[in-house]
Order: sequence, then structure tokens, then C-alpha cells
Amino acid sequence: MGVLRDVRSELPCLKNPISLLIDDWSIGYVGEGRGTIEDTKFEKCYEFAKDLVKLGALGVRGKLTLLPYVTKPEGNTYRVLGRIDKGIEGIPSQKLLEVLSLVKGELMKYFDITPELLTHTLALDIETGTLINESEWEWSNKQDLKTLTKYIAHGLQVLRNVGIVASGITCPCDFGKEVEGILAKAILEAEKIVNNITLTWYFLHMQSRRIGWDGSSVNPRLMYLNEESKEAVVSIISGSAEYINQKTIDSVGPDPERLADQWITADGEKGRLAELLKNKAYIIFHIHWYNSHGRDDKVGFFALKELASRIRDLWANKVIWMKCSELARYFTASKTWKAEVAGSRIILSSPFHCPLFTISFAVDREVKYIKVNGKKLKKKEKPPLEKCSWTAMGDRVYLCFNLTERTIVDITFK
Ligand SMILES: [Zn+2]
Repeated sequence: MGVLRDVRSELPCLKNPISLLIDDWSIGYVGEGRGTIEDTKFEKCYEFAKDLVKLGALGVRGKLTLLPYVTKPEGNTYRVLGRIDKGIEGIPSQKLLEVLSLVKGELMKYFDITPELLTHTLALDIETGTLINESEWEWSNKQDLKTLTKYIAHGLQVLRNVGIVASGITCPCDFGKEVEGILAKAILEAEKIVNNITLTWYFLHMQSRRIGWDGSSVNPRLMYLNEESKEAVVSIISGSAEYINQKTIDSVGPDPERLADQWITADGEKGRLAELLKNKAYIIFHIHWYNSHGRDDKVGFFALKELASRIRDLWANKVIWMKCSELARYFTASKTWKAEVAGSRIILSSPFHCPLFTISFAVDREVKYIKVNGKKLKKKEKPPLEKCSWTAMGDRVYLCFNLTERTIVDITFK
């Protein structure tokens, strides 16, 4: 009988997970300047949402911010125009419903939708509904667990009221950065109260270059774990700079192909995302929606579209697009599973179920077939793997399956 040893977890289907994080989007973005939202600002936000469906159709997955509240600059402060579940001054309710149904009917297929806390401007007193004269991020860094939990739960609840279950949150600017341990726990508590979710995530950090020792990569981080109650909080980190901002456009020119080159060149070999691919890292990158649609020529959007096409054409066998909730699940499972080898059987246990879970092990004999929980896996001649399949390379065998609390892998040798 063959001997198997050294069981390890691998990237899903032996591909790098890839995810696009989109920040700051709102039903009616009210930035600098004057004018009513129903004209330019509302139309631009809506147009972005409609165009984003096209990126989803090209395979793109990730997360999209939807701000629960809309505020408007007034003098040197802001005024609350409303919240998406109760109506927004200046936006007819029919229009509001139209955008929300686009989010729920189309965008949610491709993206997790998150609050980016309540206003992304000034902090809100949630009891009175009035703004506090302090930004959300300044305010957040002085709060305790109970207050932060309430604040985050309120954002989740507003989205929930319009039928959106947000599996995680986006932090506006440095929200909670100085109290990150408390922040992570507050997100979990808020998710448990509002959505009954115990595996959650947040986006706060960017690391556009590798920091640390040689072998380190920019990957998510598991910030909290309780295996018994099956609770986990993951920090999803963007590993790339945003290459469609005005600064980059000024230096590279308003050329979608040259802008896309900063992420991945047309041959798939260079650019920041190619670097992450080579490092076997999670490829997570971010944009702000207005850098896609802020300019009238929409050059940012066309650069993204070019990028999505390059990924589809060049990297179909190398990467797998994932929503943030899927990334967070995979990452957590890969840190918390355990294996026990008994003869030609591997017994896996995990607090979290996980689709497309991929492991490998070393063997000293050729494998004939593999069964997972009694079901035969499909043999693939070479990677990448797909759902319920396996392949052999050198002295290692790689297999992809649906990980459950207890998974039995039986190996039959030739
Ligand atoms: Zn933001």
C-alpha cells in the first residue's frame, strides 16, 4: 500500500483568487460643489451601476460600497439628505427604487454590497439622526466596543431594510484603524445581531508594495477566530495602488490600454497584479467609483474593461474571480482546517464549510482514484482543477472538493 504524507492547503482550484473592491459608491453621490443630486450626480452614479453590470458579465467579482446615507456639503459642514431605506431629498422615490432593484437584481450576482459606514463624511448621532461635527474616522478611533457595534449595526440594518444582506463592511478612510482589535469584534457583533452572520470581513488596509521579509505576500489576515462558535473576522487587504486616479491619468495619459498596463500588461507578464500572481498571493485591488466615471470620457472605466478582458483572455487558467465573502471563507478555512491521516484515508475537520477547497499531499505510489465522502472525483490530466476533481504532478496529488465539518478522503492506489 502507498504511503501519503505532508497534507497542505492550496489556492482554490490551484488558481490565485482575484477580487475588485469598489469604494464610495452611493445612490446620489454628493461631493464637492453645488447643484441638485437629481441631475449630474445622480445620473453619474446610476450610469456607473449600469456599466458595472458589464464588468460582471466579463467575470469580475468583488465588493461594491453602497452608502446607507446621503449627505450634501453645505458651507463648511454637511447636511443629511436622507437614507436609502426611507427616501432621499432630491431623488424621486421611483428613481431610488429603480437603482436599488438594479443593485439587487444584477450587481449582487457579482459583488458583495457593503456599507462604508453611514455617511462617509461626518459621524452621525444615530439616536437623533443628526451629524456630529467630526468625521466618521476621527470619531471611530475613540469609541468602545458597544458604540462601534451599534454604529456598524445601524449601517447593516439600513441595507437590510432594502433587502441587501451585507456580509462585511468597508471602512471609510481610517475608520477604526487605531482600535482595530475592537473594530474587528464590533463588526462580528453587528453582523450577528443584524444578519446572523458569524464569518465576516472588512476592507480597511492597502498595501501597494510588499512590506516585510522576502517570502511575504499581501494576503488577507485572520483577525479573530472562535472555532467553537464558528466565528471569524477577516481583514481583506488591497495589494495594489489605484491606477485610474487623476494623478496616474496625468502621468500616463488618458489611454485605457496604458492605464491597464499598470495592473497587467497586454502580454500578462508585467504590472502589479502580475507581480501578485507570481507571488502566489491573493490578488485583491481597489478603485473608487468616481475614478471610473468621474471624467466625461470615462477613461477609468475603459481601462477597467480592458483589464477585465486581459484577465479573461490571458489568465483564465490562472485566476479565479471571487466575491469578498468567498475570499474570506476560503482564507479562513485554509487557516483552520485539520487533517488526520489513517492509512490511505485522510479525515479533514473544519469549523467552516468551504466550496472548491483544494489540498495536496505527497505519495510514494501512483493513485488510481480518489473518493470524497464516498463520491469519486474526476481525474484531470493537468491543472487547474475544477469542482470535485484531482490531478497528479511529480510526487504530489492535488484535489479540489467541497469542505464540510468532517470530510473523508479515500485514496485508492494503482
Ligand atoms: Zn471611501
